Parts: sequence; structure tokens; C-alpha cells
Amino acid sequence: MSESLLQPEERVLSTLNADGSRRWLKPRLSRGKFLFWRRIVAYTLIAVFTLIPHIKMNGKPMILLDIAHREFTFFGTTFLPTDTLLLALLLLIVFFSIFLITALAGRVWCGWACPQSVYLEFVYRPIERLFEGAPGQRKPKSMIGLRKLLRFVVYLMVSAFLAHTFLSYFVGSENLRHWILSSPHEHPVAFLVAIATTGLMMFDFGYFREQVCVVACPYARFQSALLDRDSMIITYDYKRGEPRGKVRKAKPGLEPGQALALPVLGDCIDCTMCVQTCPTGIDIRKGLQLECIGCAQCIDACNAVMAKLNRPLGLIRYSSQRAIEEGKAKILRPRVIIYPLILLILISAFVTVLANKRDAEFFLLRERGLPFQTLSSGEIANQMRIRITNRTNNPAEYTVELVGEQELRLQTENNPVLVQPGEQFNERLLIIAPPDYFDVTPKTVQVRVHDGDAYEETKPFIIHGPRTRPLPQPAKPNAPSNPEPSDG
Ligand code: SF4
Ligand code: SF4
Repeated sequence: MSESLLQPEERVLSTLNADGSRRWLKPRLSRGKFLFWRRIVAYTLIAVFTLIPHIKMNGKPMILLDIAHREFTFFGTTFLPTDTLLLALLLLIVFFSIFLITALAGRVWCGWACPQSVYLEFVYRPIERLFEGAPGQRKPKSMIGLRKLLRFVVYLMVSAFLAHTFLSYFVGSENLRHWILSSPHEHPVAFLVAIATTGLMMFDFGYFREQVCVVACPYARFQSALLDRDSMIITYDYKRGEPRGKVRKAKPGLEPGQALALPVLGDCIDCTMCVQTCPTGIDIRKGLQLECIGCAQCIDACNAVMAKLNRPLGLIRYSSQRAIEEGKAKILRPRVIIYPLILLILISAFVTVLANKRDAEFFLLRERGLPFQTLSSGEIANQMRIRITNRTNNPAEYTVELVGEQELRLQTENNPVLVQPGEQFNERLLIIAPPDYFDVTPKTVQVRVHDGDAYEETKPFIIHGPRTRPLPQPAKPNAPSNPEPSDG
């Protein structure tokens, strides 16, 4: 088989060479107003990301994703696994916000705020340029090995810091500080997790890099469904730019009118600066592509070229496909009306559920085994397990009692019980009935838990026992209450 048959007609992936090997991208840095604002946004986000685990709200971390205990704290409010509705609403709000932002502004998240782009473009690549030089201005070959080693060491330090910051979102900054300051022998699992996370950061930002956006991130795959022809994207104005071609000067000696004999070209001079600066290695002039992360580097690159040529800026710009094709933009369309309406409903539901969230919650579960036991005293005991969760930020004392049942009594070791903020109390409880209590079986009793203050909640619980009491006889409606004895 000839070699040409194996060659694909066009590049399959921007990070692959025709022979299947990795195409390493070394994008040129293009300075301009978008790079200026992206830098400000990026370093602000890095500062925020680093500080959040250390900020407390209501005595709790601002954000803590405690997967081990299945508790999620956002802005000082802790959500438990039982907050399914709140968590589901929160997730839906996040999803619909992404849908709306993408419909309006394309992949603005990817280019401006995604940690992958922010750390790669504004931390790791600048370190690389520092030690190895920018593309086109390579540093002298001397001491290349030493510079690579230094770059690796700095990468490792940054990755370790980033990994620890990342982990503090899951374990809390206090735990992390304790682990860092104590010997790895005391917490080998945490130590290994920190090492593995640092290794992952090194792999991602040192090796895998833009391939996360190009082949791994699911968001890019949804792009075609989330965007429409009116979404704002970074786009090349092909009407103005084509036919592209190098700037050619009229030959000396030609009359002004003869210069028109030169082919009429568009504004794109085919300098490929927009391609050389692209961090995902694509050519925006081919139209909207899945790999485009909306970083605006091609805008800055092309604007610099246009400025040098004294041509209007914006050959590549934020625009929409319809605006480029038809010359007019359409902002209002069904999806940008429907998404905000859905978001409004979801946010209202979330706020309502959150506002009505109780200070505590309790659950009753029947213990495994026999439905009831007969005690040596002849009394009937039903076993259950009670779980009380204190959702407030203060310790609270909870009392468990039966409602309207004079004959029944509760037996437990702790009643009332003190529960610390965010903690759960979990204990076995007996409901004890006298031997002749059950005229019907099973029976439903009401269990109430209160803290003597704002929290009070009552739940039904079914108890079982032997039917030992006759059912009360209904009174006969027409029978005389004190019949006279008959004469006989
Ligand atoms: S930077 Fe501008 S002029 Fe140069 S190739 Fe890209 S679109 Fe054409
Ligand atoms: S095409 Fe332009 S906006 Fe898209 S990733 Fe490349 S440089 Fe960034």
C-alpha cells in the first residue's frame, strides 16, 4: 500500500501530525486589549480560587465539598444528602446558566474563566517562555538541559501548590494544614492523594495541555447543540477577508490606473499570525470549530496586523454567524427567552425551599429483626432508630416525645440529647406499650422532636403488637339504655 493512501486528506486533529504523532503546540503570544483584560480576569480568578478555602462564612468554609461525609457547604450553608431537592435545583441552575451563557456568548467560559485555560495560559506557558523563550525568539541553545530542569522544578512547585489548593476544597484548609505540618507516616492516605493530585497537575499542564479542550472536555462536545447562528462567537469575516493573499505592491513604472490590474484581494494577507497564536492549533478562517475555546488571541494577532497595514481592525472579531453572513444580528430568539424563564423558576424554587429549610431534621427507621418483643414484664416493645441532624451553627438540645399517648412510654439513653452544629445524633429507641394495649394492630403513633425553641417536627411511626384488648363495642342506636325487666 502506498504511503499516500495512509495520509489523511486534512488534519484529523489539531494536536496530531499526519503520521499520528503528537503535534506540540507553541503558540505565539499576541498582545492586545483582549489579552490585557484576560490577564486581569485570570489573575483575579487565581487569587479567588486560592483564597476561597481559607474564607469562613457563618463559622464554616465558604466552599467545602466534603465527599467523605456527603456534606456540601456553599457560602456558609451546608447541604446534606437529604437536601436532594436543593442540590438538584442547584445543579439545574448551573446547567441552565451554562446553556444561557453559551447561547449568548459562546465559549466565553472556556477562554476567560475555565481553570484549564487560566492556569495553562497565564501560569504554565509564561513559565515555559521564561525558561525556553517565546516562539520565534528562542533562547540560545546553551544550557538548554539546565533550563528544562529548572522549568520542571518550577512546574513541580506550582503543581504541588495547585494540588493542595484543589484538595482544600474537599478536606478543608485546617485539615490540609495539619497534614502538611505533620509527618506523612501519620496520614499516609492523605499524603498519597496529595502526591497523586500533584502528579495529575503535572501531567495535565506539562504534557496533556490543550488536548483537554480538544479531546477530553464534554462541554466542547455539547457546543453544536448549545450554540445557534446568532450566538456571539469569535469569527473571521470571510466577506471582508477573502480572497486572501499576500500584499503585493504595484510594479514601479505602472500608471495609477494600471495598478488595478493586480488581483483584487480581501483584507486577509494570509500572514497566518492568527493560526500561530492559537493555543489549540486551529485556523479560525475555516469557520467555527469544536476546538476553538474563544480565547480571543487570534483577534489580538489579527488586529495588530491590520493596524500595521492601516486597515480597519476587526477582521477577526466577536460576532455571530448570522451577522457575518447577513450583516445583521438577532439578539432575541426563543432560547434566550426560554432559558432565563426556566432559570427564574428554578431560582425562585431554590430560594423558597432554602428559606423554608428547617433548623433540624429527624428520621425514624424500624430496627431490623422481629417487629416487636414481649418483655419479661409482659410489656410490648417496638424498636426503632432515630437520627437527628442539627443544621444550625450552634449546639442544640433535642427532646423526643410521643404525642397524645398516655399509655405508651419511650425508652432511650439520651433524651434530651445535645447535638453539635452540623452533627448527627443516631440512637436506638424503644416504644413500650402495656400488655393489653393493642386492640388493633399495627397502630400509628406520632413521634415529636423539638428543641424547645424554633424547631418542632412530628412524624408518624407504625408499631406492632399482639391483639390483646377487645375492640370497643359500638353503642346500639335504638336500644334502651336501661331496659326494664320483663314480667316474664
Ligand atoms: S492574522 Fe488576520 S491577516 Fe493574518 S492570516 Fe489571520 S486573518 Fe489573515
Ligand atoms: S481560534 Fe482564536 S479564539 Fe479560537 S482558540 Fe484559536 S486563538 Fe483562541
